[in-house]
Amino acid sequence: MRKELLEKALSLINLDEVIHLTCELIRFPSLTGSESEVMGYIEEYCWKKELPYQIFKVRETQPNLIATVGNPHGKILAFNGHLDVVPICDRSMWESNPFEPKIYKGQIFGRGAADMKSSCAVKLHILSILKQLEDNLQGTVRVEMVSDEERGGRHGTGYLIELIRAGKLPKPDWVIIGEKSDLKIRCAERGTFIYKVIIKGRSTHTFSARVDGVNAVYIAARAISQLEKPFKQAHPVVGYPVISVNYIQGGKAFNQVPAICEFVVDRRTVPGETLEELKGEAIGVLEDLKREYDFTYDLEVLSHSEASMTDQNEPIVKVFQTVLRDVLNIQPEFFLDWAGGTDAKYYRKLGVPTIIYGPLGDHRHGPNEYIQIDSLETLAKTYLGVAISLLT
Ligand SMILES: [Zn+2]
Repeated sequence: MRKELLEKALSLINLDEVIHLTCELIRFPSLTGSESEVMGYIEEYCWKKELPYQIFKVRETQPNLIATVGNPHGKILAFNGHLDVVPICDRSMWESNPFEPKIYKGQIFGRGAADMKSSCAVKLHILSILKQLEDNLQGTVRVEMVSDEERGGRHGTGYLIELIRAGKLPKPDWVIIGEKSDLKIRCAERGTFIYKVIIKGRSTHTFSARVDGVNAVYIAARAISQLEKPFKQAHPVVGYPVISVNYIQGGKAFNQVPAICEFVVDRRTVPGETLEELKGEAIGVLEDLKREYDFTYDLEVLSHSEASMTDQNEPIVKVFQTVLRDVLNIQPEFFLDWAGGTDAKYYRKLGVPTIIYGPLGDHRHGPNEYIQIDSLETLAKTYLGVAISLLT
């Protein structure tokens, strides 16, 4: 029975419809903070496909849409995807208009093609298929189209979590997020520890730099090169931590030793690293330098979110592996090396097993972002296989 149902579901996949929907979504320049128009388009889609939906929002310009099919009394499988995109910094590097999708050699180019409008299109498409078969479902499939992910997700998935905690929205039993994962199962992601260091030395005229000056820029440079040392220990699931100093400012005049230099460090963490350890890493470097230089410093934590992980033995992981092996003839692989955080962190914190599984593509956040069209078909098949396995 389940096999027949799956065959029926797979036969309803229409790749042209997925391509069309992806292109339509790319046409909306839905930068974080202005997602209402693209969400309006999705409302229209749900209305046309007779998918019941609700809108949840904290901010007028950043709505979130949840569409649901199936049996409201059973378990809940949620597919989550964000509709916001990052800005275009370097238009001249794009070979086509980032908001006018271009199909070329089996790929769709455009801002959001990979991150993550194509997989949102797949989710909506499979929901419309499951709608036609919903009498067979013993539980609910819901698609969450959210805003605000690229700025941390507080008004998007973060808000949905608030509603779940307040008992205003049912808590899903499993969550699948369609961020790019090259069709590999991604069970974990690094956390974020971003901090600002302000080095306070002593200013003076350049001619007495070696006499009574304490050059804050030198000290910052030394601290940065110490922090940049390679990490010894890799985590088996997410690989090495990553560190990058992404901002620095110091000095006021060409002929004055700078008293102040500040820099911001973006440190991506691996499961098991505590906030205390992370602070200790930075403070250790600065305290060492105090033996050589007469300075003080402030260290301010700008943001911290823990690395998160779903156990590879969770049933949803096993279901993914079975579907990939038996339905798609793909040897299941785990996606390991990844620095970016996703909305998975919210659901994992809530204790919901959460998997990232998304298409093949590249240049996310950069010029000429694209998605591989054939991977969208595999994605649709996998999502349908997993939904039917979990809910029938
Ligand atoms: Zn994304």
